[in-house]
Amino acid sequence: MLQDNAALDGYRSYLPNNLWQIQWQQVPTAIYDKCPVYVKTHTWIELLKDYLLFLLFYKIIKKVLYELKWYGIIGSASRIYRTCIAGVFRWLLNTTILKSSVEKELKKVTIAMERELIKNDESLADYETIPLKGLSEEEILEELDKLDTIIPHTEWKEGKVSGAVYHGGDELIHLQSEAFEKYCVANQLHPDVFPAVRKMEAEVVSMVLNMFHAPADAGCATTSSGGTESLLLACLSAKMYAYHERGIIKPEMIVPVTAHAGFEKASYYFGIKIHHVEVDPNTYQVNLKKVKSFINRNTVLLVGSAPNFPHGIVDDIVGLGNLATRYNIPLHVDCCLGSFIVAFMQKAGFNDLPPFDFRVPGVTSISCDTHKYGFAPKGSSIIMYRNSDLRKHQYYVSTDWTGGLYGSPTLAGSRPGALVVGCWATMVHIGEAGYIDSCRSIINAARKLKNCIMQEVPDLEIIGDPVCSVIAFTSHTIDMYELGDRLAKEGWHLSALQKPPALHLAVTKLSVNSVDQLITLLKDITKELRDDPNSKPSSDGTSALYGVAGSVKSTGIADKIVVGFLDTLYKLKPSE
Ligand SMILES: *Cc1c(COP(=O)(O)O)cnc(C)c1O
Repeated sequence: MLQDNAALDGYRSYLPNNLWQIQWQQVPTAIYDKCPVYVKTHTWIELLKDYLLFLLFYKIIKKVLYELKWYGIIGSASRIYRTCIAGVFRWLLNTTILKSSVEKELKKVTIAMERELIKNDESLADYETIPLKGLSEEEILEELDKLDTIIPHTEWKEGKVSGAVYHGGDELIHLQSEAFEKYCVANQLHPDVFPAVRKMEAEVVSMVLNMFHAPADAGCATTSSGGTESLLLACLSAKMYAYHERGIIKPEMIVPVTAHAGFEKASYYFGIKIHHVEVDPNTYQVNLKKVKSFINRNTVLLVGSAPNFPHGIVDDIVGLGNLATRYNIPLHVDCCLGSFIVAFMQKAGFNDLPPFDFRVPGVTSISCDTHKYGFAPKGSSIIMYRNSDLRKHQYYVSTDWTGGLYGSPTLAGSRPGALVVGCWATMVHIGEAGYIDSCRSIINAARKLKNCIMQEVPDLEIIGDPVCSVIAFTSHTIDMYELGDRLAKEGWHLSALQKPPALHLAVTKLSVNSVDQLITLLKDITKELRDDPNSKPSSDGTSALYGVAGSVKSTGIADKIVVGFLDTLYKLKPSE
């Protein structure tokens, strides 16, 4: 239907020669006359094609430029190389020739893992299905005792485990059990049914806010089920805050490589792009220049740790706070591990901890695990915010659900009120003086370990300058994972780290008195390993596993091993 030009006074039908394109648009003559020749001489389709091509090149060039800005030429080249090699090997491992041998090896690893983890005994009753008739209380208690003696837990009471059990005082365990019994059925989802639990929860939150110097008028928090949930909530609230307040739909966060894996999990759960920032090779604090280079208009959160899990190093929170203020981006400080240690260090007389809490301008949220150095029962942590505007964005609200008006402050729906009561009882029982005492003894023990390693164990090197309760060490002369395996044979369970291979001990109340023994062992074993450098690391030990994980050629296999490990947790019997 060719239209009559005369009838379109003041319009020019665009490219009228081409019948199927004429319907696209009628362009006002005034505009048409001003169009560049390029536009006049190309069809709509051609223009669209050119535009899309331009957009593609623009995106590619932008990506390349950002890549160069963030990682430099060498860094970018090595990233590309690693990605390609890892891809090639992933592909190779899935081809028929290698696949079967990889699967055979994986099977071996799985069997070794199952042998290690699945403990049972003929004298124990097995319940693969629910028993038809329930057992009596005596029968169950008897079975629990049997379980505890026949397949006992690692002897944590001697303090030879890094972190994991943070107090273990019999008196406190009794108090927590009593608190649990009294509030066994309580659920924070129903504050009207359990008003006492609501009161205690509000008080726990208030006490912790106070410890971290939250602004008295605006500071606020919620409890959560643990450090990971606190981190997830901090990331979620930053994402939603940026979305609602600044319209950011492609959120990004900037996170030190040494920050907890929970941030990676938040990125995975909530679709937040994560930029990992390297640490300074001397201080092991996050590199602030690199942090700055990653900041762009999609950045919704900066992250620092006080201290971090791997090396126990406190990032430069003041420096991060400056960036956060200058660019008006929220800053989360992860004090999950630092918890009641960092909060009481100053009062315990240690003045070498740089500022890390809400007194630093720019810090907008802090996570603190009450179930670590707060000694509360496991399943308890606090996520704090500078103001309720930020906290609001972690809430979930649904006002049109058939089940009624619904609102929930954290990830869980129903929440075990007994745990919050246990936390409240613990904090009120230990009191500030108690926490200051335990902080002092834990820090003193950690510093003793640090100094002895520095002065008396020449093969080991302390990572950075840790001032808190975690001491990490590496070596240029001996295999750290072999050291870890040999310590395990002596009953010591330190945490294995990678990049660089290292071990750490998170000193707890229990390990305060066994640090001397660890120092002696470290001296002896490092000497043995140095004198016998050819001794082959045990092939099924930690070093073999981290060897697999550490090589670009086999990262795909490491992933499979971890999946196998997680599968093992739910197996009744080892596979044949
Ligand atoms: C323990 C820890 C967390 C949280 O771990 P959970 O196991 O979920 O309690 C977060 N950050 C750091 C630095 C930690 O050490």
